[in-house]
Amino acid sequence: MLYASVVLDIPTRALDEAFTYEVPDSLLGQVTVGTTVLVTFSRREAVGYVVGLADDLPHELKSSRVLSVERVLAESAFDETGARLVLWLAREYGSTLSDAVRLLLPPGQRISMRRSSEDGRWEPVSKQVGAVDDRWVSLTEEGRTFEPRRNAGRQRALVAALAAGSVRMAELGATMPGIGATVAALERKGVVCVEHRRLVRGSGATSLSSASAPRPQKLTDGQVAALGAIEDSCAAACGDVVLVDGVTGSGKTEVYLQAIERALERGRGALVLVPEISLTAQTVGRFRARFGDRVCVLHSGLSTGERFDQWDMVRQGVARVVVGARSALFAPLADPGVIIIDEEHEGSYKQDGAPRYHAREVAAELARLRGCALVLGSATPSLESLGRCERGVWREATWRRVVMSERPGGASLPKVRVVDMTAQFGDGRRSLFSAPMVEAIRGVVERREKAVLLLNRRGFANFLMCRECGCVPECPHCSTSLTYHERTHTLACHTCGRSWAMHAYPDPATCCPNCGSRYMGAYGVGTQRVEDELHALVDSFGVARDAVEVIRMDADTTRKKGSHQRLLEQFDAAECAILIGTQMIAKGLDFPEVTLAGVVNADTTLKLPDFRSAERTYALLEQVAGRSGRGDRPGQVIIQAYWASHPSIRAVETHDRMLFLESELNERSAAGYPPYTRVSNVVVSGTRVDDVRDACDSIATLLRERVGEDPAWEVLGPADCVKARVKDRFRRHVVVKSPTESGVGELLASCAREANVPKGVNVAIDVDAHDMM
Ligand code: ADP
Ligand code: ZN
Ligand code: ZN
Repeated sequence: MLYASVVLDIPTRALDEAFTYEVPDSLLGQVTVGTTVLVTFSRREAVGYVVGLADDLPHELKSSRVLSVERVLAESAFDETGARLVLWLAREYGSTLSDAVRLLLPPGQRISMRRSSEDGRWEPVSKQVGAVDDRWVSLTEEGRTFEPRRNAGRQRALVAALAAGSVRMAELGATMPGIGATVAALERKGVVCVEHRRLVRGSGATSLSSASAPRPQKLTDGQVAALGAIEDSCAAACGDVVLVDGVTGSGKTEVYLQAIERALERGRGALVLVPEISLTAQTVGRFRARFGDRVCVLHSGLSTGERFDQWDMVRQGVARVVVGARSALFAPLADPGVIIIDEEHEGSYKQDGAPRYHAREVAAELARLRGCALVLGSATPSLESLGRCERGVWREATWRRVVMSERPGGASLPKVRVVDMTAQFGDGRRSLFSAPMVEAIRGVVERREKAVLLLNRRGFANFLMCRECGCVPECPHCSTSLTYHERTHTLACHTCGRSWAMHAYPDPATCCPNCGSRYMGAYGVGTQRVEDELHALVDSFGVARDAVEVIRMDADTTRKKGSHQRLLEQFDAAECAILIGTQMIAKGLDFPEVTLAGVVNADTTLKLPDFRSAERTYALLEQVAGRSGRGDRPGQVIIQAYWASHPSIRAVETHDRMLFLESELNERSAAGYPPYTRVSNVVVSGTRVDDVRDACDSIATLLRERVGEDPAWEVLGPADCVKARVKDRFRRHVVVKSPTESGVGELLASCAREANVPKGVNVAIDVDAHDMM
C-alpha cells in the first residue's frame, strides 16, 4: 500500500503537521510529491499538498483508520527536494507548513474550498490565471542599424534590450513598465517585430551570446581567484559557500556570468537573486546578453499570469537561468549548479510575511540539498556572512571569502571627503548644504556633469538629536537610540521596553547627555526641502533653471508603476542633472557621467533604534560612494555628518572597512547581538488591547518556562512595539536572544501554539528579525 504525507491548506497553528492518507489503487502514479490533492479532514473536504510518499504506515498510525486521497487537483509543483525545503522552512522559521508550502506553488494557481451557493456543499475552486503571454519582440534586419534620437531614452533602452535576441513582451514590461507604446511605435517604423510563439530554443539565441556587454579579454586576479573558489565549491557538491567580497565596480557580475556559463556547460542551471530595486532592464540585459532566451525573469512587476508563465518555462526546462527577487529561490529549477545572491547584505532579502525567511539562509539550505555551490557577492558583506567565513564552517558547509579589491583596468575608487556639520552649524550656517558641498555642486554644474544626492532617511522613528554635538540619547541598557514620543513627552527604548519622562533623562534636565547643550530637536528633513534648496542654489550660480535637470526620486515620486525606471531614464538622457533621492538611489545605478555622490545627512540612520543601524549606514554610504567616478572622469564623494568620527563614516572616508568592523563587532559581542547570537521577535497584534496584552504575556511566560535558567538564552519583554499601533491594531512583542546554533523557530512555534491566544489576535514569528519596530 502507498501512503501520502499531506500538508493541509488550512492556515492554523493548531493543525500544524502533515497528515497521512492512503493512496487508492485508482490514483497510483498520479499522486506524486508536489501534487495538490483533495482529502477529507474532520468530516470536511480540504485541499492538501503531498510532501512525501511511503510504502508503510507510520508506526503510531498502525491501529487507526486511515482515510484515502480522494482526487488529484493539480499536477506536481515541486520535487522531493522541494518538499524537504518546505519542512525545513517551517521548522527554521516557526511558520505553519501551509504558509511554507505556498512559497513553492505556481503563481496564481491556488485551489481553495468554497461553499456552493446551490447545495451548501464545500467544493474545490481554482482561480487559475492561465494568461500565457507568448508575444516575442525582436529587432528586424533594418532594426539592427537603427539609431534612435539621442533623447529617445525608451527607444534606446528597448533597442539595447533586444540587441541580444528576442525578449518576451511580458518581460520587457516588467523591466521597462509601459514599454508597450514604444514597441508599437517601433513596430510601425519596421524596427521591431512582434510574433506569437510558445517556445524559443536555439533560434537565433546562440548567435548572440557575445552581443552587447563584451566578455573581457582578461580577468583580474580577484576574478580568477573567485572563479577558482566557486569551481571548488561546485566540485564539492555539498552546498559550500563563496563570499565574493569585491569593492563597487570590481567586476562581480562578470564572475557570476562565468560561473553560470560553467554550470550550463555541465548541463545544470542557475538561480540568480538580485535586490528587487535593481531588477532593471540594465541588470537583466547583462544576463540576457550572455545567455539569451535561456534566461527567465521572476519579478513582482509582472502580473500573476505573466509570473505563472515564467514559472512554467522553468518547470518545462526551457529557462535554465532564473533571475529574480528573493522568491525566485522557489522556482522549479530541477538542477541548479550554482545559486548566486548579489548584494547579499541587502535588507530586502528578508521576507516580511510568514514564513519570514532570509533568502541567504534558504539559499544555503537549498544549495546543501541540491549539492550545488552558493555564491554571495557584495562590496559590504553582512556581518553574518563575514562571521561565518571567519569560522570557516557553518552548518556543515565550508564558507570561503575571496577579496576583489581592485576595479578592472586600474580605475580608482573615488575620493571621499567627510564634512563635519557641527562645525558648519557653529559658523551660523542654516543651509542643508555645507560650503564644500556647494562648491562640488557648482563644479558639476559648470562642467555639465551629473551628481546624485542622497537624503538618508529610513524608518519613521523620531528621535532627539543635539544640534550642537549630534548626540542622540541612548538607552543605558541596550545601545540603541531612544525614540521620542511627542504626545507623552517621553523617551522610550524599544529593545528592552524601558522608558523615561523627558525631564528624567538624562539625570539633570532636557539637555544633551553628551555636551549639556539645550538645543535638542526632533530630527527629520524631507527630500522636498532638499529639492527646494537645490533649486535656490542653482539659481544663485546664475545659470538658467532648465540648464540643470533636478530629479527627485523618493516614495512619493515613485508610487506609480514604472516611475522608478522612467526617472532613471530621464536622468540618463539629461546632459547635466542632479538626482536627489532616498536610499533607493544607492543601487542599480551605473552611469559613467556621475562625478559627484553627495550625502546630505549621513548619520540620521546611525541612531535608529535597531542594532543593525550602524551596519546599514556603513553599507549605504559605501554603495552611494560607489556610484561616483565609474567612467573615465574621476569621481568625488562628499558626506555631510554630525557625527563625523563614527567608525561607519570613518571607514567609508578611508576605504578601510576594518575601522567599522572592529568597533561594531566589539559592540555586538558586548551587547549579545548577531552575529554572536540570534535575535528573534514575536509580534502579537489585534484590535483589542487587552487581548493583545494577555496573549503576549502568555507567550512570554511560556517562553521563560521553556528557556529556564539557561544563561545563553534571554527573553526580553513583553513591551509595546515601536510601531505600537498599525492600522488600528495594537502591537506588542517579545524578543528572544539565543545561541547561533539554536533551533529557535520550533520553540517559538510551540509556545505560540500552546499560549492563550484569543480569537482575532495574530502572532507573527520572526526568526533572525531584521525589522524590530
Ligand atoms: P560590480 O558588480 O562589482 O559592481 P561590474 O560587474 O558592474 O562590477 O563591473 C564593472 C565594470 O567593469 C563593468 O562595465 C564590466 O563590464 C567591467 N569589467 C568586469 N570585469 C572586467 C575585466 N576583467 N576586464 C575589464 N573590464 C571588466
Ligand atoms: Zn533598552
Ligand atoms: Zn550635545
